[in-house]
Amino acid sequence: MSRLSENWQQVHRRISAACQSSGRTEAPLLLAVSKKHPAEKVAALAALGQVHFGESYAQEGVEKIKQLAHLSLVWHFIGPIQSNKTKLIAEHFDWVHSVDRPKVLQRLSDQRPAGHQPLQVLLQLKVGEEVSKSGADVATLKDMADWAAKSASIELRGVMCIPPPSPDHATQLAYLRQAKVVFDDLRQQHPKIDTLSMGMSQDLAAAIEAGSTCLRVGTDLLGPREY
Ligand SMILES: *Cc1c(COP(=O)(O)O)cnc(C)c1O
Repeated sequence: MSRLSENWQQVHRRISAACQSSGRTEAPLLLAVSKKHPAEKVAALAALGQVHFGESYAQEGVEKIKQLAHLSLVWHFIGPIQSNKTKLIAEHFDWVHSVDRPKVLQRLSDQRPAGHQPLQVLLQLKVGEEVSKSGADVATLKDMADWAAKSASIELRGVMCIPPPSPDHATQLAYLRQAKVVFDDLRQQHPKIDTLSMGMSQDLAAAIEAGSTCLRVGTDLLGPREY
């Protein structure tokens, strides 16, 4: 069996086990984070049945999207967004997880080409106290959600977070549960939101326990990043 298919099965086993131990009947969506991996590897994973892929660098992602346009894949942008990259993202991606300020939200909305499906948007919540961490505070997130709900070229789908890395399950859980509280609260105002994107290779089990609906796994699926 190839390395890739072993990884794929292993990750699915971990997801099933975590779902079972936290009493969840529906598994979260699995997003394969393919940043810094070549298009051939994405194609190999797609051949195993993987549909959703995540990219963190606009230019690199768009190149892969073009190379793999013959496959019916769904592409998620999950990296930090510079204002001068919003057009590229709005023109090529299906989802954006990392919208963390109003200016970026407005540009994505304005630059989504007519005739495309609405861009599926998650708002990135700041979790943890480090000043350098990206993400919006709760008040800004709520303002952005209200704005997004009125845009015809954007469909607001939920919340994403990247908690500070910690090897400790209890610490991971505490951060992830903060995001779940904000997500549930936002859903009171915006009942159609359905996506809470959290959980990476290291905190996958805790994220499932905390209520993630979308896991973003890179290393444990595709191995160490190649370039
Ligand atoms: C790289 C990245 C991931 C995947 O991380 P791994 O530790 O390789 O699983 C998930 N989410 C975001 C936002 C990333 O940038």
